[in-house]
Amino acid sequence: MQVGLCLAGGTQELGRVDLGLVADMGFSCLFMGCYEDDMHWRAEDVAGFVRRARARKLNVIAIPWGYGRVLDPDPAIPSLYVETHPQSLQVDSRGRRVPKACPNNPYFLEWFSSSMRTLAWMLEVNGFLWDEPSFHYARGTWACRCEYCLRLFHAQTGREMPREFTDLVVKFRESSLVMFLLAAAAAIQAVDYKLDSLVMPAPSMPGSQLHSGTSNWGALADCSACDAISLFVPWQHNEVPMEQAVKDLQQEASRHAEKAGKRSLLWLAASPNPRDKVAEALTCANRCGTETVVLADYGTLLDATGFESFTPQLQTIIAQVR
Ligand SMILES: [Zn+2]
Repeated sequence: MQVGLCLAGGTQELGRVDLGLVADMGFSCLFMGCYEDDMHWRAEDVAGFVRRARARKLNVIAIPWGYGRVLDPDPAIPSLYVETHPQSLQVDSRGRRVPKACPNNPYFLEWFSSSMRTLAWMLEVNGFLWDEPSFHYARGTWACRCEYCLRLFHAQTGREMPREFTDLVVKFRESSLVMFLLAAAAAIQAVDYKLDSLVMPAPSMPGSQLHSGTSNWGALADCSACDAISLFVPWQHNEVPMEQAVKDLQQEASRHAEKAGKRSLLWLAASPNPRDKVAEALTCANRCGTETVVLADYGTLLDATGFESFTPQLQTIIAQVR
């Protein structure tokens, strides 16, 4: 089993990361958050970090964050594009613009693809992870009813888009996000066809519905934009026992991935605090046959108080599961 580490703190954190320690701990891949605003001004620093990591035989996967907030695990992440392109934003079922670009807007898609091509060209990474692509859904309102979505829905179904959140609307949003992922993968693979394209749906336990457009994990794994399906194990938030959550999500991930001939990854929220059961979760994932586990993230784990005393135990566990 490979063990990866997520770096979510932007260029400020990259400057602090001790790559020697990361490699000595036994991590084999880094999942590096690339913030739109950060990449605007400090892309060279990030490119330098990737070169140093690759020199230590660490694989690096870029995770674009911001960028119109279609890839939006955290709505607090700023996006200059969202600020400056109000006409490209999603329109909710009450007719209001929400601070999130529409993946069906051709102008946004063009800008996004060109931004990803630039990232792929500048950073010598091994691949990209598309983190929780989503449509807006909150308090009973949903998106998107922009002019492009209305037209596309009509072209696909022969009907006007309803204001209710019907099954047809759910399917339309899901297929729109698959089309968005195809465009994203095509953009980076036009630069280098060997670049991996990893897909992370919104975190949920199997069977629960989130309405952000990525609940159909089978369709995501099937799509040619997906080389590996990546699932976050939200046991701490869902009050599910860790062992059961890891086992259930591993089963789901490998079921969809194997059917589609793809790989799968599991993500765990990690800290040195025994409450987060990092060592136990790694052992459990390895026992369930997980290919890769990613610990999230550097800030909450290696940068946290208490990490020093946890280091020997974590190092031993990673050596055992590798
Ligand atoms: Zn739209």
